[in-house]
Amino acid sequence: MNLAPPLDERPVTSLRGVGPSLAATLARIGLCTVQDVLFHLPLRYEDRTRVVPIGSLRAGARAVIEGEVQLAEVVFRRRRALLCRIADGSGFLTLRFFHFSSAQQDALVRGTRLRCFGEVRMGPGGLEIVHPEYRQITADASVQVDESLTPVYPTTEGVQQGRMRMLTGLALAQLPGGGLRDWVAPDLLGPIGLPSLESALRYAHRPPQEADIHLLNAGRHPAQRRLAFEELLAHQISLRLLRQAADRDDAWPLPPRGDLVEPCLARLPFQLTTAQRRVWGEIAGDMAREHPMMRLVQGDVGSGKTVVAALAALRAVEHGMQAAVMAPTELLAEQHGRNFLGWLEPLGVRVGLLTGRLTGRARAALTGALAEGAVQVAVGTHALFQEGVEFARLALAVVDEQHRFGVHQRVRLREKGLADGRYPHQLVMTATPIPRTLAMTAYADLDVSIIDELPPGRTPIRTVVLPETRRDEVVARIDAACRSGRQAYWVCPLIDESDVVRHQAAEETAAVLASALPGVRIGLVHGRMPGARKDAVMNSFKEGRLDLLVATTVIEVGVDVPNASLMVIENAERMGLAQLHQLRGRVGRGSVESTCVLLYATPLSSIARERLAVLRDTNDGFEVSRRDLELRGPGELLGTRQTGLMQLKVADLGRDADLLPEVQRAADLMLGGPQANIGALLRRWVGEGERFGKV
Ligand code: ADP
Ligand code: MG
Repeated sequence: MNLAPPLDERPVTSLRGVGPSLAATLARIGLCTVQDVLFHLPLRYEDRTRVVPIGSLRAGARAVIEGEVQLAEVVFRRRRALLCRIADGSGFLTLRFFHFSSAQQDALVRGTRLRCFGEVRMGPGGLEIVHPEYRQITADASVQVDESLTPVYPTTEGVQQGRMRMLTGLALAQLPGGGLRDWVAPDLLGPIGLPSLESALRYAHRPPQEADIHLLNAGRHPAQRRLAFEELLAHQISLRLLRQAADRDDAWPLPPRGDLVEPCLARLPFQLTTAQRRVWGEIAGDMAREHPMMRLVQGDVGSGKTVVAALAALRAVEHGMQAAVMAPTELLAEQHGRNFLGWLEPLGVRVGLLTGRLTGRARAALTGALAEGAVQVAVGTHALFQEGVEFARLALAVVDEQHRFGVHQRVRLREKGLADGRYPHQLVMTATPIPRTLAMTAYADLDVSIIDELPPGRTPIRTVVLPETRRDEVVARIDAACRSGRQAYWVCPLIDESDVVRHQAAEETAAVLASALPGVRIGLVHGRMPGARKDAVMNSFKEGRLDLLVATTVIEVGVDVPNASLMVIENAERMGLAQLHQLRGRVGRGSVESTCVLLYATPLSSIARERLAVLRDTNDGFEVSRRDLELRGPGELLGTRQTGLMQLKVADLGRDADLLPEVQRAADLMLGGPQANIGALLRRWVGEGERFGKV
C-alpha cells in the first residue's frame, strides 16, 4: 500500500538531494511541493542532440558546434575581450569572452578542438557566440551528445539549470501512482484533441529527440497547449467566482448629488471628450447601485483616464465617504497626487499622498487623518493597502495601470476595503488596449468601459522604422533636438533571461552616447537600480535637468514629461507591439510634433518587418493590438505574458487566443456542474483558491 501523500502535498524535501536550504531557495520561486516542480515548465528548449556545421548557422540559433581553434587574441575596443576563431571546414565563427582567465586563454591554442554551445549572433566580424559553454575534445574519442531535447527552466540564484533538470526528472519519476489528479474532465478536452495531463507533463519536460523544437519553442505543441488550456480555465473560473461574490456583496449606493462633481467639471480648463463623458456616465451608474462596482476603464495612453477617476473620487466624497487611488510606482503616485490636488483641493476636498517614502511623523499624521476621515482622498502606491493603514469610510478604490496588478491584488483590495459589511466600489484603469475576446478572458470579473477618443489638439506621433546601421543619423538627431531645448528618451530593452550583457547593455549605451554627445546631459535608469535612485533620475529628467534619458523598459508606464518629444527604441524587433505602443506614448504629450524611432537589428524577418510597419502606420492602440494578434507568430519573444496582463505561468493570452472560446465553454460547464474539482484546480494554478468564494 502506498502511504505517501499525493504530489500536491508532498514537500520538495521528499525529492532526493533536497535539504532545508535548497527547499528555502526553491520556495522563492514558488516551488514547495512535488506538484509545483512538475508544473514548473521549461522556458524553452535547446537541441544538443547533434553537432551542426558552422556554415549552416544563422544568427539567433542556439546550437552545438565543433571546430578547431585557428586564432585566439585579446583585443581592446570598447571593452577588453578574448576572441577565438574556430573553423570546421564548412565555415568559421568567433567565440567572444569578456571575462576569462589566463589559463583559459593559454588553453585556446591553434589546433585545439572544441565543442561549443551557445546563441549565435551577428558580430562585427561575422557570426559569433558570446560566452559559449565549451570543452576541449580529442578528434578520435567522440564525446556523447544528449538524447532528448534539453529543457531550459526559469530559475533563481543558487539553482543551476542542471539541478533544475535533475529535480524535474525526480518529480516525473514520482508521477506513476503519485495521485496527480486530472481535474479537467476528458469530455471538456475531447473537442480540441489535447493529451492527458500526465503525458503532457512528461512531454513538456523531456521532449524526445525527434520532437519539433520550433513548435515547442513557439509554445504551440499540444502538450503545452494542454497545460495552457488548464491554466486559462483555472483563471477564468477564479475571475467568474470573484465576480459572483461581488454581485452578492453590499456596497454604499452613491447616486448623483452634484455638489462636487459639477463644480469640478466647471472649473476644468478643458471639456471632457464625448468618450470620457460616456464612460463617466457608466461609472456613475455603477456607483449608484448597492453592489460594488467592478469596472475596468480601457483607454489608450493620453486618453484622459485620470480626470475620470477624479470624478469618481468626488462622487464618493459628495456622500461623505473616502476614495483611494493606487498607482504602480512612486513617481506615478506623485504625478496623480499633483493632479488630484490641483483639481480637488480648490473644492475643499483634502487629498493625501501616501507612498513608501512617507515615514515617521508625517506618515503617522496622514494615516491618522485617513482613519478619522479628515483626509477624503488618498493617492499612493501599494503602501495604501498595507497593515496599519485604515480608512474611516472607504467607498471607492481606484487602481491605475492595472497591468501591474494581478487578480490576487484585486482580491486583497476587496478584503481590505470591507467595513460594516460593505465593500468599496472598484475602478480599474488600464492603457493596454486589447481586443474583446482577450478582454473577456483577462477581465472576466469586470465590466469594461472604453475611452476610444483622444482629447483634441494632440499632434500625432510620427513613427520611423530604421535599421541599426543608421544609428549615427539618429544620434545626430538627438543632438539637434537636445540643443534646441527638447528632451529625448533612448530605450534599450532587456534581451532575454540568459543574456550575459543584460543591464550592462543600458550602461554601455549610456556611456557610448555620452562620448558621442558631449554637450548633452544624460541620465540612466534601469530595473536593477534602487527605487529611490531611479526616481531621482526620473525626476531630474522631468524637471529638465537632464536632456536625454537612457532607460530599459522601466519607463513604460504613465510618466508625463511634455517636453520630451523624441524617443529611440533599440532592438524594437524584439519587443511586443503593445509594449512598443505604450513606450512611444511617453512622447507626444506636448504641442510639438513628436517622433519615435524604432531601430531594428538586421536581418529582419518579414513578419517582424510587418509588425513594425503596424506601428508606423497607426497611432491607435486598439488597432495596434488587433493587428498584433493577427500577425503574432512563432519567434515572438515578448508577448502578453511578459507584459503581465495576467500572471500566467504557461499560457500566453496572445498565442493561445484560439483556445479561449473552448476555455469559456469549459468554464460554463464546470461552474454549472458539481463543483468538487474546482477548488483543487484553482489551488494548482491560481493559489489560494478558497479566497475566490466558497468552492
Ligand atoms: P492617461 O489616460 O494616459 O492616463 P491622462 O489622464 O494622464 O491620460 O491625461 C493626459 C493629459 O490629457 C493630461 O495632461 C490631462 O490633463 C489631459 N486631458 C485629459 N482630458 C482632457 C480633455 N478632455 N481635453 C484636453 N486635455 C485633457
Ligand atoms: Mg494614466
